[in-house]
Amino acid sequence: MISRLLIANRGEIALRIVRACRELDIESVVVYSQADAGSPYLDLADEAICIGPGPSAQSYLSIPSIISAAEIANVDAVHPGYGFLAENAHFAEVCRANNIEFVGPEEDTIRRVGDKAEAKNAAKAAGIPVVEGSDGPVETDEKALDIARKIGYPVLIKAVSGGGGRGMRIAHNDISLSSGFQTARAEAETAFGDSSVYIEKYLENPRHVEIQIIADKHGHVVHLGERDCSVQRRHQKVIEESPSPGIPNDARKAMGRAAVKLAKQVGYHGAGTVEFLYEHKKFYFIEVNARIQVEHPVTELTTGIDLIKEQIRLASGEQLGYKQQQVQQKGHAIECRINAEDPDRNFTPSPGLITHVTTPGGPGVRVDSHVTTGSRVPPYYDSMIGKLLVWSDTRTSAITRMRRALDEYRIEGIKTNLPLHRRILRNAYFERGEYATHFLDELLTT
Ligand code: ADP
Repeated sequence: MISRLLIANRGEIALRIVRACRELDIESVVVYSQADAGSPYLDLADEAICIGPGPSAQSYLSIPSIISAAEIANVDAVHPGYGFLAENAHFAEVCRANNIEFVGPEEDTIRRVGDKAEAKNAAKAAGIPVVEGSDGPVETDEKALDIARKIGYPVLIKAVSGGGGRGMRIAHNDISLSSGFQTARAEAETAFGDSSVYIEKYLENPRHVEIQIIADKHGHVVHLGERDCSVQRRHQKVIEESPSPGIPNDARKAMGRAAVKLAKQVGYHGAGTVEFLYEHKKFYFIEVNARIQVEHPVTELTTGIDLIKEQIRLASGEQLGYKQQQVQQKGHAIECRINAEDPDRNFTPSPGLITHVTTPGGPGVRVDSHVTTGSRVPPYYDSMIGKLLVWSDTRTSAITRMRRALDEYRIEGIKTNLPLHRRILRNAYFERGEYATHFLDELLTT
């Protein structure tokens, strides 16, 4: 059993993991950079260790600094959260080599599904529909042109190691594919340290629907339903909800079965997400995220299962304890990602001092955020400063509740995307559930 756990992350997810540890009676050790020193959430952990300066490369991405902290703190497990080192197979390997349990799947599994082209091949081998495209990485632009002519334009050039909505480039014809191909490779090398790219048919306006899976180390896998993450700005999720308002029950069930099948095929354990695109009544696998995701509380609200506690329990070797038929989804949950960014300046990050916070509350409202009045948002990290979630028995009442909660939320001193959320929640298409991945980008240009 895990008794002392190090959290290799920061901000809201670090706080979320501290809370899970408290409820499991596990001691938590949180690492922090100099830029995060003094953050109130650090006081809630049993111990906090500074691991270096603000820039991530010298702190939250520094494997030697984090492993030293784990050794000094004498922990028996590391939770990587999301982002930073969460899907770094080498980090998982180093943890295990030091006799520290890594809360996540085996390094080989992380490696296999982290390579998006290989993950697609694994899905294909399991009989799961994938978006048409190359069979693996594409090395030359001639090869790229061959594939594009076969599957038809538009196509998407995607980085094999891409993530966070970055590393994607659309090509509408031979000319844009030829010119975009080398640029995409160079960008992928700079952003992800891996220039490999693959080609995929670009679906015109799909929904993004993903399945949460959870698996123990004894071969049991269940799924916890879907999340619709189609409200995106430039391929990055902004609002997530469950159930999806845009897919029929049979598709939902088929996606759930496909996700479980894939998880079994790759020997997955822990919490993970299998992502699909859904268009014209068909779904297509796109990728696996071998970690907890930002939007996991949406599923927690509809299933009543605490995913972080489950991750820790399962990493200790415990059995799942419930079967697929016992998983019940109830009511409707919506999450708004609250970002420190300026909607009037093309959503550029807006770091700085938060002079005032009023957090919403009341029935069915959950706020996962580490910032309070007096917090300073450092310029070094992702701009997300919290997540506002609501739960209610129907989608309509959940929307009403979210509008009310958004109206209560006040964050002053920095700019946030709260006004954007208020606008989306009052949009007639959103209200009717009639939206796909281009909805928000279109809304912002009108
Ligand atoms: P990342 O790992 O960077 O988040 P994903 O592969 O999960 O990348 O894709 C993120 C988003 O990009 C999707 O939700 C969707 O909006 C868009 N996208 C990805 N692949 C395609 C595709 N083949 N056609 C259309 N849109 C796509």
